[in-house]
Amino acid sequence: METFIQIDHIEALLKHHFNPTESEVLSALNHAKEGKGLTYDEIAVLLNTEDEILLQQIFKTAGEIKDKIYGNRVVLFAPLYISDYCKNNCTYCGYKRDNIFPRRKLSREEIHQEVKVLEALGHKRLALEVGEDEDNCPFDYVLDAIDWIYEAGDIRRINVNIAATTVDNYKRLHGKKIGTYILFQETYHRPTYEKLHPQSLKGDYERQLYAHHRAMEGGIEDVGGGVLYGLYPNWKFEVLAQIMHNEDLERTSGVGFHTISIPRLKKAVGMELDQFEKGITDFEFKRIVTILRLALPYTGMILSTRETQEIRTDLIHHGISQVSAGSQTGVGSYSESQEDSQVTTQFEVSDDRSPIEVIKSLLKMDFLPSYCTACYRMGRTGDAFMEIVKAGRIGEMCHPNALMTLNEYCLQYGDDELRKLVDDFTQKELALIKNLVLKAKVTENIRLIKLGVKDLYV
Ligand code: SAM
Repeated sequence: METFIQIDHIEALLKHHFNPTESEVLSALNHAKEGKGLTYDEIAVLLNTEDEILLQQIFKTAGEIKDKIYGNRVVLFAPLYISDYCKNNCTYCGYKRDNIFPRRKLSREEIHQEVKVLEALGHKRLALEVGEDEDNCPFDYVLDAIDWIYEAGDIRRINVNIAATTVDNYKRLHGKKIGTYILFQETYHRPTYEKLHPQSLKGDYERQLYAHHRAMEGGIEDVGGGVLYGLYPNWKFEVLAQIMHNEDLERTSGVGFHTISIPRLKKAVGMELDQFEKGITDFEFKRIVTILRLALPYTGMILSTRETQEIRTDLIHHGISQVSAGSQTGVGSYSESQEDSQVTTQFEVSDDRSPIEVIKSLLKMDFLPSYCTACYRMGRTGDAFMEIVKAGRIGEMCHPNALMTLNEYCLQYGDDELRKLVDDFTQKELALIKNLVLKAKVTENIRLIKLGVKDLYV
């Protein structure tokens, strides 16, 4: 079947713009500065730029675009793995069916325990993760698990990263109060995709490729995509393909990706990194993040703890708008003592700082950590959300909400150092709110939050 990803077309674009001139690069960058995205030709030009000075200009412009559209906010979340049953055999994944280890799914009580630990870390936003196994981990279980998470305490947004499924199932998922439905294509290069996902449901390239379309047909308005960088060495191909995917979603469903995750392949049980042809270097990774930021200025960009503190710190200056913190990638891992944990994790993490450490480091760099979960509860989803972003108005909502959630976090979990950082930061940021009515409201809300009122937002 012919899809919107045509290998020949992408390869021809990259070939045509091989070795671009300085003026072509500068012209693409000037267009990017308008914050309206880029044409495929311009993206191919930027992807093929090798000149060190021009590359630095790409990085700088991506940082400026991020700042202009997202301001200094960085949203925090954590993954929650509830089942490691999996019938797929993705060659790169610790949960592949060929890996023999005691598998499990969490009971309602175990989910409550995990949520308690996540809450004690201050989390309000989770990404729910499961393997694919309809017998041992039925779709109904996942739907129940969402209720169990919400009933356990004060988690306010659950993004759901589960395998591709049917429109009917997506409708049922939409019936639960979820944030974004996330699914990674892993690689857009069909021959590589088919080789890396042998004899399994997930091995059906089209089933994966059109999953977000089906999710939107099922009523889910916010969907997230991603490439697992490092599976297919030609990252330039993947970037262009990801943007074509975004465009096809816009064309058919009226709105593209709400978020794009940028995971990079890590060592996992049962696989070695040198099984894969050639990894993605840190520098190439930065090129990927920044060009995606220029091409999709309004799309949230997510970086996980697969990356080191140094890389995460650098990339939030150049495009990343959401990061996970304090993550565990095994089922039941949050409640287990880490020293004697027997849990098989999906892959290794590289940044093991706790959320409070991440928050302090963000504040010290003048970033505003956010636990905001207002959007989907205020109906700011899908194209309604995108219209607000494109009109440059998210700052009026997201910025105050970030400040309020930061103060709520600080009251509950802060130490002396954090309290000082947050108080100083709050004064500085309040002074920047130009709308006096809004400023008065946020000031009053922060006063109430300090008295113990929770979950205030605009
Ligand atoms: N099982 C679902 C699916 O197939 O889409 C949920 C996804 S899984 C819990 C989350 C993601 O982890 C996968 O989509 C994959 O990109 C990523 N992942 C798997 N193995 C990895 C590895 N070795 N290194 C980094 N990321 C990995």
